[in-house]
Amino acid sequence: MSELYDVIIIGEGPAGLSAGLYASRARLKTLILEKEKAGGQIVTTDEVANYPGSIENATGPTLTARMADQAKEFGAERVLDTIVEVDFNDKIKVLKGEKGEYQAKAIIIATGAVPRAIGCPGEKELVGRGVSYCATCDAAFFEDLEVFVVGGGDTAVEEGMYLSKFARKVTIVHRRDELRAAKSIQEKAFANEKMNFMWDTVPVEIKGDGIVESFTVKNVKTDEITEIHADEDDGTFGIFPFIGFIPATTIFDGIIDLEGGYIPTDADMKTNIEGVFAAGDVRVKSLRQVVTATADGAIAATQAEKYIEDNF
Ligand code: NAP
Repeated sequence: MSELYDVIIIGEGPAGLSAGLYASRARLKTLILEKEKAGGQIVTTDEVANYPGSIENATGPTLTARMADQAKEFGAERVLDTIVEVDFNDKIKVLKGEKGEYQAKAIIIATGAVPRAIGCPGEKELVGRGVSYCATCDAAFFEDLEVFVVGGGDTAVEEGMYLSKFARKVTIVHRRDELRAAKSIQEKAFANEKMNFMWDTVPVEIKGDGIVESFTVKNVKTDEITEIHADEDDGTFGIFPFIGFIPATTIFDGIIDLEGGYIPTDADMKTNIEGVFAAGDVRVKSLRQVVTATADGAIAATQAEKYIEDNF
């Protein structure tokens, strides 16, 4: 029989780490499960300027590393395993991972979301060969090369500007003629000489023999198709799709209520199942930021503590 925890948190991004900190500080036997690497989406961000109190030059990785140390200091255990199946039918909840089985009185789902792919031919085949979903991880590969960023939201524009520190030229390829990104972010991008904009344009195909060599796009107003080729001297260029995220909820499908793939909760982070809470980007919510994720995590852990007190 596997060990019984008070609280198991699935996901080690800011929401999960904050839940881990609050749960372990409340002296609950706490386990945080993460499938791959700690930190969540924010580790792909080079600068975290809008998390209150985040000091100058705070990066996604440094901020979340500090959060992880803090949770560990108060006794939260951390295990790397991918959960493949959950059983929420009984009072004791069971999680089945690739490596082991885990049991808890309460569960906090903080699995976040993963980058949305364009879905055009060639994209999947050329990931890591010119196509990337992480500017912080891969920008250095495009030193003095050209880069295309797909999308017009905060992520696309901010990551585009980060890429401009390395690339010779960055072109934002956006399906409309107006950015979705916040005005303050737009202003910086328009003032950046390396940033260019291709409006009303959608990706059609990415081609290349082992490395990105061409990018076919379509103007949605004129239907004009353009095939962009790598500069002969460069031989390649980068394509960074930043077109939003998909909630990581596949394993909960049919088990807990979902809305458009996201988990609806009440203000106390309670899902439709007693003893199961959700926190962070995986929830139905209007603002997906580190500050809202950490707040969710704190509320979920506090409510989990109350639930355990009342029910066990
Ligand atoms: P987002 O706001 O959903 O923007 C996605 C962008 O991709 C939009 O411009 C959208 O176009 C475009 N798009 C979506 N599907 C597409 C498709 N199939 N083909 C081409 N383009 C497509 O996503 P995000 O920028 O990743 O931001 C997610 C959340 O995080 C937002 O709430 C954002 O405010 C927040 N965030 C905040 C900061 C910050 O405050 N510093 C930084 C990063 C992210 P349309 O505009 O036409 O819909």
